[in-house]
Amino acid sequence: MSHIDPIVVSPTAYDELETYLRKQTWTRCTIVSDQHTWAAAGSSIAERARRAGLTVREIILEPGEVVADEIRLLEILRQTTPTDELFIAAGSGTITDMTRFISFKLGVPFLSCPTAASVDGFTSIGAPLVLKGIKQTLISQPPRAMFADTGILCGAPTEMTAAGYGDIIGKITSLADWRIGHLLWDEPYDESIALRTQKAIDSCVEHRHEIGKRTATGVETLTHALVESGLCLVDFGESRPASGAEHHLSHFWEMQLLRDGRPAILHGAKVGVATVMIAGLYERIRQIPREGLAERLGSVHLPGISAERDAIHSAYGSYADQLIHGSEFVGIDKDRLRDVRERIVQHWGDIQGIAATVPGAQDVAGLLRDAGAPTTCSDIGLSAEMENAAFRYAHYLRNRFTSVKLARFLGLHS
Ligand SMILES: [Zn+2]
Repeated sequence: MSHIDPIVVSPTAYDELETYLRKQTWTRCTIVSDQHTWAAAGSSIAERARRAGLTVREIILEPGEVVADEIRLLEILRQTTPTDELFIAAGSGTITDMTRFISFKLGVPFLSCPTAASVDGFTSIGAPLVLKGIKQTLISQPPRAMFADTGILCGAPTEMTAAGYGDIIGKITSLADWRIGHLLWDEPYDESIALRTQKAIDSCVEHRHEIGKRTATGVETLTHALVESGLCLVDFGESRPASGAEHHLSHFWEMQLLRDGRPAILHGAKVGVATVMIAGLYERIRQIPREGLAERLGSVHLPGISAERDAIHSAYGSYADQLIHGSEFVGIDKDRLRDVRERIVQHWGDIQGIAATVPGAQDVAGLLRDAGAPTTCSDIGLSAEMENAAFRYAHYLRNRFTSVKLARFLGLHS
């Protein structure tokens, strides 16, 4: 189990932060924020830390879009000093992830003080970063403790809360994909972690209208669900429980937007929209009869290795070689292919059982809409072309076996 202690989500969280700091041996802390989150949270955290007797240093990011890339990482890194002994991330996911990564590399702990219930990464172990234009999650460290002030979370921009909810709704398809990966590709699986994740989804679905209205109960429920999802990653040791094909689509769009020099879209907003798309894919998988399945699988022509390389180059440009090099699916060998096809036939009943756990695309869209979250690519400014490209190319980003990979073997996408 994780050792993040305490995890506080409350209107008096910063009182508890002050008490906590008094009891610890740290004599100084470094607060990382941007200009907005400094005003919303960083300054009051600084005041509490000083009252607790600590010397406080501030790292406030320069204005402008904050992407967790080399430039921003270096901006923080060059302001660190050899005497830093504790970092406090006062911000949303991006600031937390950069603080997580840098503190980990410097060998010092960090505390998480989220300013929005926007993402499930606060209590997680991985730091999603964009390095050389590729979105990748580097295993770093969880925070030592987390203090989330409910008032600050409720005051966060509406779309950030909706994005946090979208990230949770994404677990519907990530859980199904995880089970498919376990069944067909021997990926490690833990039923108790899956059940914890399911509970987090259920609690948010139940409170979706309150989340949409950003009531204290709604936002606290969402924050606890995001925390729990993050803890599942820590306990499992990787992001599998919380990240399936819907996350790959989201990562793909993120990279494309970055490459095109367009502004970023909130992670959870993209994930929610992608979840509707993947739910649609599960609908199509449900429609495939067992009868004639082996023949169907045998008749699907997967692209040859050179065609696949060309396709990846056209979609990813200069990042392509790295992806091709690390892929188990590009030029999959004959034995592996035969094994997967046999398993699909053998486990078709189980696959249908898993697919049945995913609501239809319109139902997922309804769940998102009820909480004020976007449901379509056009809602978030992505073209039909980007939508299709994500279906075709996003799965190359990870070796994980997902519904999109299954769909390829079934001939639903080429
Ligand atoms: Zn996520």
